[in-house]
Amino acid sequence: MIYYKTSAEVELIRESSLLVSKTLAHVASVIKPGMTTIQIDELAETFIRDHGAVPSFKNYKGFPFTCCISVNDAVVHGFPNDRPLRDGDIVSVDVGAYKNGFHGDSAYTFALGTITDEVSQLLEVTKTSLYLGIEKAVAGNRVGDISFAIQEYAEKKFKYGVVRELVGHGLGRHLHEEPQVPNYGKRGSGAKLKDGLVIAIEPMINMGVKEVWYEEDGWTVKTKDGLPAAHFEHTICVRRGKADILSNFEDIEAAEKANPNLFTKN
Ligand code: MG
Ligand code: MG
Repeated sequence: MIYYKTSAEVELIRESSLLVSKTLAHVASVIKPGMTTIQIDELAETFIRDHGAVPSFKNYKGFPFTCCISVNDAVVHGFPNDRPLRDGDIVSVDVGAYKNGFHGDSAYTFALGTITDEVSQLLEVTKTSLYLGIEKAVAGNRVGDISFAIQEYAEKKFKYGVVRELVGHGLGRHLHEEPQVPNYGKRGSGAKLKDGLVIAIEPMINMGVKEVWYEEDGWTVKTKDGLPAAHFEHTICVRRGKADILSNFEDIEAAEKANPNLFTKN
């Protein structure tokens, strides 16, 4: 069953979501080649706990870390590990924070050092597809309108692979609530979007084929062809006319630009 949030509840989800954004901005300011993803996970956990919140993912269905950190051909749900990051890696960091009884959830893909134009385009298209989906997240539309907008752009226009196995989701008191929000689908299909519906929209886009496989850890999802994948996620609230984006990329993008170890387009 879909649970629509009151305005007071939306503000609490905004608080949790903005803490996630600040956590990702903190990661953006310190990430560099040579650092391990376990180190990133530890500093994210400390940051979240220092701000009076609890990492949403830690112990969720047995997931042992604060962040899902997925490097290069890892799409999502990557286990942080002790392999040092290298120049040219793309690193998706997905984080959740739980505070005042509500979760926030967001993800961002960083590029270390020098990357190819092809990889740069993958990141740009994935982020743009997120915003195209968000544009459709208005009262009166249906979930399929969001899904279609993302798929149409990433798959039809750029011939990228849109992952089918993993989807966006409602969230609030629980990290994953109804409805599911796929990144592929038909316009005008699925649950109707109503004012107060809070969802995480999270395109997972592969440079090559859409097929994925799971690593032996049971969590890390990788592209079947070994080509890179990107992941961007916002928590948003459906409103009439225009969605309210509860998480925020501004601080992350500012930190990204200020960090000489990160690739940015301009
Ligand atoms: Mg997430
Ligand atoms: Mg999510």
